[in-house]
Amino acid sequence: MRETPPTVSNRPHRARAKGRVADKPAAMASAASTQKMQEEATCSICLEHLTEPVTIDCGHNFCRACITQHCEHREPERGTKFPCPQCLALFQKEKLRPNTQQTRGSPRL
Ligand SMILES: [Zn+2]
Ligand SMILES: [Zn+2]
Repeated sequence: MRETPPTVSNRPHRARAKGRVADKPAAMASAASTQKMQEEATCSICLEHLTEPVTIDCGHNFCRACITQHCEHREPERGTKFPCPQCLALFQKEKLRPNTQQTRGSPRL
């Protein structure tokens, strides 16, 4: 008794339904995460790599010189507080702390 092989269709694969993209290229995801890492190591004031990074209350990092200058160019709000250039959370200039752990995870944690 001869087994008949399953019928192999010669038809070309049907295109997937329009407008539905199944999977993204993996390259995109890794490019995005690389960009995020660069973002974290970059000062959003001078857009350069952080020089003498300091962390403010909200967790954002800036060059000491940049954030100091930022404060000097602004009137303090509510006493001694200045808005973060990045997220506008108020921080105290006196509370700047040197960032010695630049490689640690997200500031939101
Ligand atoms: Zn800077
Ligand atoms: Zn911030």
